[in-house]
Amino acid sequence: MIRIEALQKTYGATQALAGIDLSVEAGELFAFLGPNGAGKTTTIRILTGLTRKGSGRVVLAGHDIETEPLVVKRLCGLVPQHINLDSELTVTENLDIHGRLFGMDATRRRTRIFELLSYVEMEDRKNSLVKQLSGGLKRRLMIARALMHEPRILFLDEPTVGLDAAIRRRIWALIKRVQQDGTTIFLTTHYIEEAEFLSGRVAFLDQGRIVAVDTPRAFIEQQGQWAMDLINGEGMQTRYFATRDKATASTAGQEAGYTLRRVNLEDAFLALTGKKVR
Ligand code: ATP
Repeated sequence: MIRIEALQKTYGATQALAGIDLSVEAGELFAFLGPNGAGKTTTIRILTGLTRKGSGRVVLAGHDIETEPLVVKRLCGLVPQHINLDSELTVTENLDIHGRLFGMDATRRRTRIFELLSYVEMEDRKNSLVKQLSGGLKRRLMIARALMHEPRILFLDEPTVGLDAAIRRRIWALIKRVQQDGTTIFLTTHYIEEAEFLSGRVAFLDQGRIVAVDTPRAFIEQQGQWAMDLINGEGMQTRYFATRDKATASTAGQEAGYTLRRVNLEDAFLALTGKKVR
């Protein structure tokens, strides 16, 4: 569904993407995980036609973004990182405008708005002004708006940034449901738990390069299942173990403070890049 070959992008002297190769299958939920400035937003902006690529090739569902930009626009739904709803308009009006932009007729728009408000559980807010909505509701409306024209690929750029844990989980459930209903999802995040919980596969991105691509489970298994953070005179060190028993056995006679925890994607990212995701 998504094929990226040798994709490069520079802004002046800054190399945002240094040659990315990637394939995402139809129906996958694929996550780009990396620290600030890794190139996540740049990738999404190029794939959705908002920023011109430097060099390389991008093909979505068999259509080259360079030679068939309008076809590609219709294939893609985008939830950008920053909220860009019309705050003086109602929830329904925001969805309706999007439908008009994509050439949907009045009957189709009405039906689709009805479906989507139910889908994101916002029927009771259909006549609310956007400026009266909470951050979580605005995010849900952004997802509904991106789905209005029934895209085959949904791009989500940091979809839960700034939301509290309970609301974040509600958005995750919605994203999973969109995938289960057949939409391919490409997501960027710097939240470890988000990539771990949602994605089938994850690409670690660092300084415009893909460092590794695998399933969250495979990344974690490469490290071991348990991690022990030891606090001593030299700061904090982390050791990895295959089982909890092995980890616990290693604490015998341990004077320093320690914390035993499950290995996560942050450990794998740190092992591969030498840095933390955030
Ligand atoms: P974040 O998590 O902060 O959103 P990111 O991984 O999405 O980061 P990008 O926003 O793609 O990273 O930025 C990649 C690099 O390109 C950074 O060094 C950034 O400063 C630079 N960059 C991005 N957009 C522009 C621009 N319009 N002009 C100049 N430099 C830019």
